[in-house]
Amino acid sequence: MNSLKIFVNSLDNSLKCAICRADIKNNTNIYQSEHNFGIVSSKCCQRFSIKDIEWMMKIFLAYGGYFAKLKDQNFSLERYLCNLAEDLTKKEKVLDLNELNIKFIHEILLHGITIQEYQKRLESFLK
Ligand SMILES: [Zn+2]
Repeated sequence: MNSLKIFVNSLDNSLKCAICRADIKNNTNIYQSEHNFGIVSSKCCQRFSIKDIEWMMKIFLAYGGYFAKLKDQNFSLERYLCNLAEDLTKKEKVLDLNELNIKFIHEILLHGITIQEYQKRLESFLK
């Protein structure tokens, strides 16, 4: 953590959280991934597990955006699932379910829905 403290101060506090893009103004309770250069704010460290943080960083690196980027947009998880189901029935090619799942999770993260919230809502949607 000492080397990270020097790094944050040397950049004049201009770092942004790799998850929510909030400015990181101090170096208390921040997290730096061992797998990339992303730094995560204390707020996100409190909200998400390290496992979820690492996973979200990979998704945002691959597909762009950040957590809750589209939060203000009108978004219905249930409507999104219904539209997705309609689209899938129209397509004739074989689906890659892993890719589909990652794209879907990317979409919900952009709208500020956590993976745990998604799982709960999905369970009630499927009942
Ligand atoms: Zn953050």
